[in-house]
Amino acid sequence: MSMVRLGDKIRGREDLRVSFEFFPPKTEKMEETLWDSIKRLEPLQPNFVSVTYGAGGSTRERTHATVARIVKETSLKPAAHLTCVGASREEVDEVVQAYWDAGIRHIVALRGDMPELGTPYKPHEKGYQSVPELIRGIKAIGDFEVSVSAYPERHPESPDGDADLRLLQDKIEAGATRAITQFTFDSSIYGTFMERVEKAGIKVPIVPGIMPTTNFKGISRMAEKCGATVPGWLADYYEGLDDDLTTRKLIAAAVAVEQVHDLERMGFRDFHFYTLNQADLTYAICHILGLKPSTKPTPGLKAAE
Ligand code: FAD
Repeated sequence: MSMVRLGDKIRGREDLRVSFEFFPPKTEKMEETLWDSIKRLEPLQPNFVSVTYGAGGSTRERTHATVARIVKETSLKPAAHLTCVGASREEVDEVVQAYWDAGIRHIVALRGDMPELGTPYKPHEKGYQSVPELIRGIKAIGDFEVSVSAYPERHPESPDGDADLRLLQDKIEAGATRAITQFTFDSSIYGTFMERVEKAGIKVPIVPGIMPTTNFKGISRMAEKCGATVPGWLADYYEGLDDDLTTRKLIAAAVAVEQVHDLERMGFRDFHFYTLNQADLTYAICHILGLKPSTKPTPGLKAAE
C-alpha cells in the first residue's frame, strides 16, 4: 500500500531520470501522432528515448528512419532497439553500422521472438545465438551504450528466474550498462527481484518499465504472452469502463503515479515509460512526479469542458 498520496509533490526532481519508448509508425497518420508525442515530451529532457524493432526485424527500415530523424530534428538522445531474430550476423551488423553512421550511440540489445506467435525460439543458423553474443558484435562495430531487458517475474521461456539473472550477468559482462524491465503492475514483485539482483552481484541500474494502461483488455493479452501478472485489483479498477476512455485514462495515470511512488520508496530513480506513442498520459504522469518542462511545452489537446 502506497504511503505517498497523489498530489504529494516530490521536490528536487533532478534526481529523477525518465526515458520514453516509442514504436515506429506504419502509416502517415501514425507518424503524425508519433511526432506530436515526441515534440510534446521533448521538453521533459528524458535521459533517452527508445524506438522498438518490430517482431522478426519487420520494422528494420522504419526503426532506422525514426531514430535517424530524432537525431536530426530534436535534442533527444535516441536508443535503437535491435533483435537477433531471423537475421544473419552480417545482416545484423549492417543494421548496427547504419545506426552508427546515422549518429546513434545507444542500442537496446534483445533476443526477440519468433515471428509466428507461440513458436519456441530458434536462433538463425548464421545469426547471433544469444544477446551477450549480439552485444559483443555491437561493441566490435562501435562504442555504443548498450541497454538490455530484465524480467522481474521471469521470462516465460526461462527454466527459472535464476537463469534469467545468470543471463543478465552475461549481458553485463559483454558490455550492457543498464537493464530495462518488462512491465509489472504489482510493485511488491520488485522487492524480491531486487533482493535477488543484489545477491547475484548485479550492479548496473535496473530501470522499471512503466506501462500506463488505457486498453485494459489489450494489456491483459500482452501480459499473458510475456508472463506478467495482472492483479485482481487492476481488473476491478477497469471493470465496466469498456466504453469510457476518459475514466480509463484517469485511472491509468493514477495507477502509474502510485507505482512510481512505490518504487521510489524502494530506491529506484530511473523509470522507462512505454508510451505507446501517446504523449498525454506520460506527460501528465511526469508532471505529477515533479518533472517540469525546461522550455515552454507544445500545448496539449484542449481538455473537454
Ligand atoms: P533474453 O533476456 O536474452 O532471454 C530471454 C529468455 O529466453 C531467457 O530465459 C533465456 O533463457 C531464453 N533464451 C535466450 N536465448 C535462447 C535461445 N537461443 N534458445 C532458447 N531460449 C533462449 N521485442 C521485439 O521484438 N522488439 C523490441 O523492440 C523489443 N523491445 C523490448 C524492450 C524491453 C525493455 C523488453 C523487456 C522486451 C522487449 N522486447 C522486444 C521483447 C523481447 O524481445 C522478448 O521478451 C523476447 O522473448 C526475449 O528477448 P530478450 O532480449 O529479453 O531475451
